[in-house]
Amino acid sequence: MLARTIIGVLLIVAAAVIAGRRLWYLYRLAMTGQPVSPDRTANWGAAARSVGAEVFGQVRLLQWTVPGVAHVLTFWGFVLLIPTVVEGFGALFDQDFHIPLIGKQPWLGFIEDLAVVGVLLGIVTFAVIRLLTGPRREGRRSRFFGSHLSTAWLVLFMISMVLVSLLLYRGAQYNLGVFPFMDGGAFASEWVAGLLEPLGEETNEILEHVFVLLAVGILLGFLVLVVYSKHLHIFTSEPNVAFKRQPIALGALEPIRIAGKDVDFENIDELDEDAALGIGKIEDFTWKGMLDFMACTECGRCQSQCPAWNTDKPLSPKLLIMGLRDHAFAKGPYLLAGSDEKRAALTDEQKAEAERPLVGANENGYAHHGDGAVGGVIDPDVLWSCTSCGACVQQCPVDIEHVDHIMNMRRYQVLIESEFPSEAGVMLRNLEHAGDPWGSGGSARTGWMNDLGFDVRVLGDDGGTTVPDDVEYLFWVGCAGAVDDKAKRTTKAVATLLHEAGVQFMVLGDGETCTGDPARRLGNEFLFQMLGQQNVEVLNEAGARKIVATCAHCFNTLANEYPQLGGHYEVVHHTQLLNQLVTDGRLTPVQPLDSKVTYHDPCYLGRHNRVFSPPREILASLPGTRFEEMPRNAERSFCCGAGGARMWMEENLGTRVNENRSAEALALEPDVVAAACPFCIIMLSDGTTSLNDQRDGQARPVEVTDISELLLRSIRTTPSAPAASG
Ligand code: SF4
Ligand code: SF4
Repeated sequence: MLARTIIGVLLIVAAAVIAGRRLWYLYRLAMTGQPVSPDRTANWGAAARSVGAEVFGQVRLLQWTVPGVAHVLTFWGFVLLIPTVVEGFGALFDQDFHIPLIGKQPWLGFIEDLAVVGVLLGIVTFAVIRLLTGPRREGRRSRFFGSHLSTAWLVLFMISMVLVSLLLYRGAQYNLGVFPFMDGGAFASEWVAGLLEPLGEETNEILEHVFVLLAVGILLGFLVLVVYSKHLHIFTSEPNVAFKRQPIALGALEPIRIAGKDVDFENIDELDEDAALGIGKIEDFTWKGMLDFMACTECGRCQSQCPAWNTDKPLSPKLLIMGLRDHAFAKGPYLLAGSDEKRAALTDEQKAEAERPLVGANENGYAHHGDGAVGGVIDPDVLWSCTSCGACVQQCPVDIEHVDHIMNMRRYQVLIESEFPSEAGVMLRNLEHAGDPWGSGGSARTGWMNDLGFDVRVLGDDGGTTVPDDVEYLFWVGCAGAVDDKAKRTTKAVATLLHEAGVQFMVLGDGETCTGDPARRLGNEFLFQMLGQQNVEVLNEAGARKIVATCAHCFNTLANEYPQLGGHYEVVHHTQLLNQLVTDGRLTPVQPLDSKVTYHDPCYLGRHNRVFSPPREILASLPGTRFEEMPRNAERSFCCGAGGARMWMEENLGTRVNENRSAEALALEPDVVAAACPFCIIMLSDGTTSLNDQRDGQARPVEVTDISELLLRSIRTTPSAPAASG
């Protein structure tokens, strides 16, 4: 017994020293990051709710049923196994150890054994999932492609060994009469005891010593492995969830911050000349960003949903985060050296890692990680492939904020390095000089209303400078809605529907400028601020209160980002308003459409703003409509390819995102693909046309249109074409 105690104590001390040093190192490394804005750490109530729901409730993981349930079994199994850890360590000192007060209760023994069985079931499920869907079977399509699979297998093996040795020593303890649950409850341990019993008392005595030490030793080895591997998430996911951007890092982008404070672009000259606008090196990330890197479980859920990865582009949100993590770890000695003298003493490899550009071409074209990596950490093709669709953020079980990181790296590339896809420069110039990405100018903003058959009120036309009291909604037309032919049809349909429902509305006419969304998503925060401030000034001077927008990007910017610039409005998307008008009986769909319809969720309406039901409710209200969902819908909808300013960039890598999505829609053989954003409609129209061309025009004709146009057709008592055909 003395030898067992000595060996056990030595193991505990060794593991505590190794794991403790590592955790201290990781803490210091994370703290080399920049401060977060104060609101991140101020809301303890929200933090507690997030931890409750996501860590203890496992709600994010349960978005995927089978792996989610397996994780619930494993997580809760480990929680319930904490008393066995106490018992195991206690048994090092006293063979007859039990937890005081409750330690001999049969219910405790039952819970412990149930937990063992639960965890075993969980890890067997994980193993099966890895075997069936691993890269060997699915190649690049596997969500585990690029993950550290051998470590994952080692961890599964170690967990099963802990559990097996735990059951074995408990069974031996039962046979020796030193088991805390001699009165029953520990059903699995008793079953193992039955197997060991024929071996005799002496052998059971030896087995008890060996397996107590083995269970404790493997557990301590597991602890050490955890802090050196992706299983670090066992310790980092809780604070990562607690300090996440509430309620989720979607919707608005955060302003550029330096030392936790918003950068004031009006006084940009006052900034320190070394100040980073955006993120140009690993230590420009906040400590929460560093924590993100350490929290990644390499589960690949993000990768499996990413439209860039699914169309064979080099961007995988998982590999991006892993690349940043590996670089942070490799640059750690430099960051923590503390003095030039100590930095000079670093190895050549460590110095080379410190010199690596964060964004720059690298040899494999992905976010490059691993030993001996050369070139940039993040390849520019990775950075510019993102559509900012938010699927990664929505999927991530530990609340990693991929989109914020990508956009902050873009900001640095654009604002400091002037490096971005050259074709996007045209869009930026048009925004700057004409106020819209097409360069059409303010005079083009009212052309759509010419043949409506009724007058649309335009702010300022009657000499007034403010929105009159009788006007309920300011109709934000948006650049596409004013100048693109397909989008103009939506604008006309919405205006007609509002008119027919008796809703008093008004537009800004040439007083409207691009919201700045494409500039912001490209990384040109300066231009976004300029356009945004101009619009907020106009809207505030006009006394705008309620705004309706047809473009999902305008909707998101007006509702979520203009408050950052002092613009606070009640913003609705046209599908929300039209649905309300139908519900209130102010619009009554009567004309049967006799069409099979599917619906594409725009990312900035659905995932970013959680508007899923109103468009579907409108479609459900249209007589003669047969609705069918695409396999990827609502939260798991697949991007059209236009977001993140990708609309204005060439798509030369891999296959086309819009064709991928269009093929999914066409597979349902619909008559109509409905959407609720002009950019989605442009992309899906192009996608379906292109697929039709590839099929030599043999594909079934399909119409891609906005929901408002379908509603307009249906409220007419006689069959008619759309109210206006651009
Ligand atoms: S936002 Fe969309 S495109 Fe960008 S990394 Fe995430 S999933 Fe991929
Ligand atoms: S970033 Fe999140 S979703 Fe992606 S692999 Fe890591 S933990 Fe999984």
